[in-house]
Amino acid sequence: MSSEELIERAERTHRLSEGELAALLADAACEEALAAAADRVRHAHVGDGVHLRGLIEFSNICRRNCLYCGLRRDNAKLERYRLSPEQIVALAVKAKGYGYRTVVLQSGEDAHFTAEVLVPVLREIHAMDVAITLSIGERGREEYRAFREAGADRFLLRFETTDAELYHRMDPGMSLANRIRCLHDLKELGYEVGTGTLVGLPGQTVESIARDILFCQELDADMLGVGPLIPNQDTPLGNEPCGDLHLTRRLVSLLRLTLPDANIPATTAVETMMPGGRELFLASGANVVMPNVTEGEFRRKYALYPGKACVSDTPAHCRGCMEARITRMGRFIAQDKGFRKRQA
Ligand code: SAM
Ligand code: SF4
Repeated sequence: MSSEELIERAERTHRLSEGELAALLADAACEEALAAAADRVRHAHVGDGVHLRGLIEFSNICRRNCLYCGLRRDNAKLERYRLSPEQIVALAVKAKGYGYRTVVLQSGEDAHFTAEVLVPVLREIHAMDVAITLSIGERGREEYRAFREAGADRFLLRFETTDAELYHRMDPGMSLANRIRCLHDLKELGYEVGTGTLVGLPGQTVESIARDILFCQELDADMLGVGPLIPNQDTPLGNEPCGDLHLTRRLVSLLRLTLPDANIPATTAVETMMPGGRELFLASGANVVMPNVTEGEFRRKYALYPGKACVSDTPAHCRGCMEARITRMGRFIAQDKGFRKRQA
């Protein structure tokens, strides 16, 4: 079957086999047709509103050692920081002031933030009538439960790759099985769950990315966050090539076609690799942007990879810039909290 026929079928049925997904991922020539189909499905299922989520990077301290990430514990060059509960709440107040209806609290796997420390922060932010997304890595089910009961609505935890051998090589001391256990726990506890792939890990294949898509479908993920690897010189993957932005774009389009009502961000990594990348991805299936609310030196120190987009902008500038860019595309900023609206 030709790529055109596969895209037509995906748009109609939202189902493709592993082999069909791999064929489309590998076919650079079909990228525009794929993006156009994903854009139609995005329009039909989640509309033209773009959801903004204010991102608060509250600690860059991490007990893990992922080979690609600048926050890894062995990176002695990184100046570490940890915001106090008062500082986190103050940033959430500002995020609400910018009009964001969701705050995303993201950090390294920082053991300081036990349930005892984080629960009061979540309660305070929840009382401000904003949705809360956590992105703080792997925890036990009971901690996830405590965070959920304190007001956390969503959780972002990428599986990075469903290729177990590759996962174990990239994330030493961690296990894909535990990551998947976390995702199932989070679903069962009633979180909206976001996950996805890091594109460009050494040795990753289109077949393995095709299996990632099927995994997301099987999990019925509510949010799908994918981005290209951006090599960081202070990590073991410093000399690897960048992840392929075009392959990442085809992946985003295929995720929209296979999970039509999910929320899909145009991630910071795509904007970092290509100015205007956010718009390109918003026109290829994405419907969410996560502007940074972190202020001053902390923004610079949350250095997953070099050249991070907008690192020297202020949060107020990001808000204005994002609104102008979205309006220019003929889209608008959604005013609701942006939960997944399931289609019957
Ligand atoms: N520590 C938590 C975790 O790992 O889930 C949340 C923060 S972590 C920094 C968020 C995501 O950043 C990871 O899931 C990974 O995919 C991405 N990331 C880390 N290093 C990166 C790099 N060099 N290039 C692109 N993305 C990267
Ligand atoms: Fe830590 Fe997350 Fe970076 Fe891994 S990806 S080193 S868990 S911050």
